[in-house]
Formats: sequence, C-alpha cells, structure tokens
Amino acid sequence: MGRVLIDLHAHSTASDGTDSPAELMQAAATAGLDVVAITDHDNTMGWAPALAARPPGLTVIRGAEFSTSVPMGERRVSVHLLGYLFDPAHPAIVQEQARLRAERLHRGLAIVDRMVTAGVPITADRVLEIADGAPVGRPHIGRALVEAGVVESVDQAFAMHLSGRGPYYVPKADTDLPTAIGMITSAGGVSVIAHPRGRGERRVLTGDYLAELTRLGLGGLEVDHPDHDLSARAELRAIADDLGLLTTGSSDYHGTNKVLRLGQETTAPATLTRIIQASNGITEPVGPGG
Ligand code: AMP
Ligand code: FE
Ligand code: FE
Ligand code: ZN
Repeated sequence: MGRVLIDLHAHSTASDGTDSPAELMQAAATAGLDVVAITDHDNTMGWAPALAARPPGLTVIRGAEFSTSVPMGERRVSVHLLGYLFDPAHPAIVQEQARLRAERLHRGLAIVDRMVTAGVPITADRVLEIADGAPVGRPHIGRALVEAGVVESVDQAFAMHLSGRGPYYVPKADTDLPTAIGMITSAGGVSVIAHPRGRGERRVLTGDYLAELTRLGLGGLEVDHPDHDLSARAELRAIADDLGLLTTGSSDYHGTNKVLRLGQETTAPATLTRIIQASNGITEPVGPGG
C-alpha cells in the first residue's frame, strides 16, 4: 500500500472556494487523497452535500474554519481556527456562526460600497450573486473585480485592492480566539490554529500565548501550510513539541481562487487518529464504506 494522503483543510462554494462540495469530493479523489477535511469559513452547510457525494474509498472529516481575533494594543489581529468533528448543532456554535454570517455580509457590502464610491465598476448585487448564499468573503469581491476587468486574478485583487493594508479594507468583528477554542471544545471538537505564521499572526501568537491557549484546550497547530517557509515550520514544530500540541499539514485548497493543489501539504495518519480519538462531537468520521 502506498502512502496515505490526508489533507485537513479545504474550501468549497459553501464559503470562498470555487468547487461545490460535491466537486470538492471528486477533486479530492482525483488528487489521490485518502482523507479530506471540508473546512469552510464560519459554516457547516457544505457537510451534507459533500457526504452525499463522497466517492468510495474517500474519508471525509467534517470541519470548519472559524474567524477569530486577538487584541494587540488598540487593534485586533485576525487568527483562523480550524475545528474538527464538533457538533454543528451546539447552541454556541449555531449562534456565533449566524452572527459571523451577518457580520460578513455587512462588512462585504461596506468594502464594495467604498469601491463603488471610488468609481470601481462592480456592484453589490453581483458580489452577492457570486457568493450565492455562502458567507461573503473578500475572494467573492475579488472575483467580481476579475469579471469587471479591474484585475486579472483574485491573487492580484488581493495584492492591489483587498489586503488589510488596502484602501477599501473594512475589518469584521470576529470571535475572541479563546472563546472560539472553548466553543469547539464544548461542542466535542478538536481545535487547530490554521496557518499560525501565514500573515500577521506572528505578532500575537507567541510561544507564551500558545502555551496559555493550550491550557484553554487548543489541540494543535497547522504547521505544514503553503504560506509557511521552512523556518516558520521549524519554529512551530518546536513550539508544538514543547507544548504537546498536534501538528497538521494541509493545502488550504480554494479551487481556482488560489493557486494550490489538494494534497500539496499533508497530515500524518497518527495525527489524524489522535484528532478522531480526542473528539466526541460526532461519533464517527465518515470512512471508506462507512
Ligand atoms: P475574508 O474571509 O473575507 O477576510 O477573506 C480572507 C480569505 O481570502 C481567506 O480565506 C484567504 O484564503 C483568502 N485570501 C487571502 N489572500 C488571498 C490571495 N492572495 N488570493 C486569494 N485568496 C486569498
Ligand atoms: Fe478562504
Ligand atoms: Fe485561513
Ligand atoms: Zn482556509
């Protein structure tokens, strides 16, 4: 038997990916994955259609990527938190995901408003059509900018117009990181910080703070991520080993919204076993033939 390929972070059209949940399952099988986690931003709407379309032999781990933040002086730094195998009906999760969905809509429209005012030729209606019911994210606005011919790719849209330092940026009120860890734990899930050295996270996710989060129930760190260079990976691995945290690897696949392939980064089978053993929100992950 060949190497077991496990990718624990992928997006569908239920958030800001471009593959429908069913297409994501097909893409995972085509990429030769044995296990894929569906981890859309702030919702679990993709779970049912993904499971219904699961090809034989593919194990699907149910997850989500929670939008959280940590205070730094008067500002807040955005941190993404992956939750795996939690109960999606847990009241705290249902309530917070509903709040975040509303927050994303409000904030997405505020960004579009700033663009329209500045004469950028996109409309709120078109952005909402592109989002198609998913919680609104900047990549949806990026696609509207590509369609309008303002930029050539979503990547370029981020570089020129959508980044946190850009002229149109509006922040959103995300969940406090410790609160989000507590929510996932209460709902029986396992929490893993997504790309802890991806963008600005380094400023707040110090070794000391990660130690505190570990005491609050944090389960792991996503060490192998396309946004991490070798030194970031080595640093994170050392911190995780020191604190007894799990280390995962994942592609953070977004379909054509990002230049990445499924299985580009992977997680060790023993780590997945530990995630499954540590969770009790959902009795079983869906396994081959399961
Ligand atoms: P938001 O959730 O609206 O704050 O937007 C952040 C999302 O944009 C994340 O899911 C990222 O994966 C995505 N993103 C960040 N940078 C880029 C980029 N350069 N190209 C495409 N997507 C990006
Ligand atoms: Fe995303
Ligand atoms: Fe993320
Ligand atoms: Zn992601």
